[in-house]
Amino acid sequence: MTAAALRAAALVCTLQTCVALSARAACSPCAPQAEPLKWIIVGGGPHGVHIATALLQQVPGVTTDNLRIVDDNPELLHAWKTRTRDVGMSHLRSSASNHLDVREDALKKYAAETCGKDCCRPGKKSVFAADYMRPRLDLFNDHCDDVVKRHKLRESHIRGMVSDIVPGAITSLRVRRTDGLVDLRAENVVLALGGGAPAYPEWVCQTAVSRGLIRHVFETSSEGGDSVAIIGGGISAAHLALRHSRAGAKVHMVFRHDMREQSFDCHQDWMMTRDASARTGFIPERQLAFAGVESFDERRDIIRRERLAGTMPASVSRGRNGLRYAIEKGAVRHHKADVEQMVLDGDGVSLTLTTGAEIHVDRVLLATGFSKKPPGAGLVERMVRKSDLELCSCGYPAPDKYLRWGDVYVAGALAELELGPSARNIAGARLAAERIVEGALLRRV
Ligand SMILES: Cc1cc2nc3c(=O)[nH]c(=O)nc-3n(C[C@H](O)[C@H](O)[C@H](O)COP(=O)(O)OP(=O)(O)OC[C@H]3O[C@@H](n4cnc5c(N)ncnc54)[C@H](O)[C@@H]3O)c2cc1C
Repeated sequence: MTAAALRAAALVCTLQTCVALSARAACSPCAPQAEPLKWIIVGGGPHGVHIATALLQQVPGVTTDNLRIVDDNPELLHAWKTRTRDVGMSHLRSSASNHLDVREDALKKYAAETCGKDCCRPGKKSVFAADYMRPRLDLFNDHCDDVVKRHKLRESHIRGMVSDIVPGAITSLRVRRTDGLVDLRAENVVLALGGGAPAYPEWVCQTAVSRGLIRHVFETSSEGGDSVAIIGGGISAAHLALRHSRAGAKVHMVFRHDMREQSFDCHQDWMMTRDASARTGFIPERQLAFAGVESFDERRDIIRRERLAGTMPASVSRGRNGLRYAIEKGAVRHHKADVEQMVLDGDGVSLTLTTGAEIHVDRVLLATGFSKKPPGAGLVERMVRKSDLELCSCGYPAPDKYLRWGDVYVAGALAELELGPSARNIAGARLAAERIVEGALLRRV
């Protein structure tokens, strides 16, 4: 065996040990890694999984042996699956072309192969909603599992939380695991950390959170009680309100505006991939104009304007048994207000609203989205302190057009200033993967 082969064997051995151990609850620390990996993706959500899939399919030399996805959850896509199940949505908001495989028609083909062509046609049996061919959540998740299985991504998953990164030609990562610290090194690192910390309104007191009386639905289970107050007026809040009212709970919704309908949370032009543009010959004006703006402050303003937070599609508000009808029937009560004050009250919570109304409920569920701070704030700040990386005035990185930020790649919210308002969505994962693959191929030349 040559020295290189011996080194490679040692590498596979230590990393496989690490991966195998990651599946068990108690395990001994992994040995330090001998050779750098080719790719490490930090974050095993839809973005991390899609980028890994695109690299494996499209960049020669990338294999499951030299790529790892680090995520502390017991399985890949855990946060996505938990949150979408907990809000009680039946279909995705996005269309069938937004999925985790590479070819745009992959989800439709998967549906036709697994449940027959009839399931793809409009009608009662369809696994796609008639408007925009939005996939049913169970179909979407089955397809995600199929992508993970076909690309053997479970074998690439290392459980742990990346606590420190030192970027360089070879980037070092410190991973905190239940059994101690592991140091990994890689030629390429992608930060796919998700949307960041859930946003808590100022009036929320910590005692109520620790007692489980106030819950952020992106953080803990959204189980309610006989009565719930749901704070927020977007699609997650709407799904939750319908779910709890169907279960027989008394439901209050608190948000300061009327119901606002939008098919997506940004214009579809922001979602068009370069691949789709090349096929159709249509390059969206919005994307072109955004790319031409040099000031990152101006780009941030465009993102603020174009992201349609606090909206829901017509299918949720006016579709069969939609929220509008639940409010009209009195099954859900909408308070057009803010919360002024909360008081813990026996086993429940009393809220005083800006309208003067007072409501008493068993549980308060926050569907207030994510904090405006960038995801992985501590990690990213430490990286900046230890390197010559810089952040824009809004606290976010300004990567280049291949999403390289110094010596690492960024995706999702961290790539927003380059990709635009759809960066956080599944469409954004596809935009990010295209750019990262393009950058990786160029660096090979
Ligand atoms: C209820 C709901 C419904 C949605 N529906 C749609 C939809 O229909 N269409 C659409 O396009 N978008 C939708 N979105 C928006 C978006 O696509 C999802 O939020 C998606 O999960 C984002 O993927 P992600 O990989 O960026 O983040 P996540 O799914 O949050 O995954 C990020 C992962 O990174 C891990 N991580 C973070 N920091 C570290 C670290 N330091 N070390 C290791 N791991 C780390 C986290 O633990 C997490 O597992 C929805 C969002 C929600 C909440």
